[in-house]
Amino acid sequence: MKAIGSRFGKFAGASTFCMMVALGVSAPVQAEDLRAAVAADLPGLMELYRDLHANPELSFEEVETAAKLAARLRALGFEVTEGVGKTGVVGVMRNGDGPVVMLRADMDGLPVVEQTGLPYASKRVATAASGVETGVMHACGHDTHMAGWIGAAQLLVERKDRWSGTLVMVGQPAEEIGEGALAMLEDGLYTRFPKPDYVLAFHDAAQFPAGMIGYSPGFALANVDSVDVVVPGVGGHGAYPHTTRDPIVLASAIVMKLQTLVSRENSPLDPAVITVGSFLAGSKHNIIPDEAKLQLTVRSYSDENRKRLLDGIARIARGEAIAAGMPEDRMPRVSVADPYTPATFNTVDFTQQIAAGFRQRFGEERVMQVPSVMGGEDFGQFLRASPDDTKSLIFWVGGVPQAEFDKAQRGELELPSLHSPFWAPDAEKVIATAAEALAAATLDLMPANGG
Ligand SMILES: [Zn+2]
Ligand SMILES: [Zn+2]
Repeated sequence: MKAIGSRFGKFAGASTFCMMVALGVSAPVQAEDLRAAVAADLPGLMELYRDLHANPELSFEEVETAAKLAARLRALGFEVTEGVGKTGVVGVMRNGDGPVVMLRADMDGLPVVEQTGLPYASKRVATAASGVETGVMHACGHDTHMAGWIGAAQLLVERKDRWSGTLVMVGQPAEEIGEGALAMLEDGLYTRFPKPDYVLAFHDAAQFPAGMIGYSPGFALANVDSVDVVVPGVGGHGAYPHTTRDPIVLASAIVMKLQTLVSRENSPLDPAVITVGSFLAGSKHNIIPDEAKLQLTVRSYSDENRKRLLDGIARIARGEAIAAGMPEDRMPRVSVADPYTPATFNTVDFTQQIAAGFRQRFGEERVMQVPSVMGGEDFGQFLRASPDDTKSLIFWVGGVPQAEFDKAQRGELELPSLHSPFWAPDAEKVIATAAEALAAATLDLMPANGG
């Protein structure tokens, strides 16, 4: 990530405004047209953004949010269906022969108490899945996604003479718990509605300056597996360990040995992560408990590597238990959460094609190929549901306000990450860039003259 920082850092200080003016001079006529239209639409989009930001809803509870998006799409002339995959929204616009392009935005907020101090900061409270009452915040920037997505829809509807095909707008619930995309697909997203040839989305990025576009051909985000390991022991008095089988010592051995799955069994060229995020056991100094519990997050890219890691976890847990002398009926129990979040794969030729268009439009300096990450996104489900007929891409749009990015470059500021209670992107730049990028890519994919 350092390399990207320094690459972006080269023009830290040059204002995006100056870059846009410079680009406007040389960019094609259509670029100027779209950019001017976005600028005209921006006050309305920012109003929508601030409303969404102030009123976030948790995963699968995006009722008001979905209603707002549905109303906007209806007003634009889309045929709108609500309640797809619980709270999902689908808007379809048929505009002659041509490909089906699907644009997706995710709608959910997070159980985070907002601390940005923004005048439109969320004061919402809700009960999280854990049963705990919590503040709710758009700490992942899904509010920028929805506003940029509506912006793109407006641009495309205003230019119906310039494209031919079918536009499908998808407002997806529950991205943060990795279940919304699958819920929509299982509720007939590809059977009740036109199946897409192309699927596009963007995510705001907390490590790039606002208005930058980043893309990763191939694997862009990781398989995310949540694994629970219950390690039985034989409890007893802490002073008489020889009369027990200590599950804390056994679970500790498992934790250490698991690290070798990444460091010794995995190709150094194929990234993988195993993190033990929770280790629970025992109640008192002098009692050896009869059970320990581990919670792991496991990250990988390919299906094969995912299987190898999960099989390895089960093998190591069992092997260590045997080494500790545990009887067969007290072997560790390993369970993998189902469904899991599969890796997001950006179709390589499609990604290069869209990126080339972005370069032409926004200029070399604003469009970068960036390394893939081990974070997760359930966007990958849309390609997995139609691997032979569909091409897909999710790209990043930088959100860090330029002044803050400059300070961070000088070591004067630690930037908040996505999901931070302090994440406050430069929403205007994110929304304007994303609306233009999504609309331009769609126009390129379904030109009115058939190519
Ligand atoms: Zn998130
Ligand atoms: Zn997100």
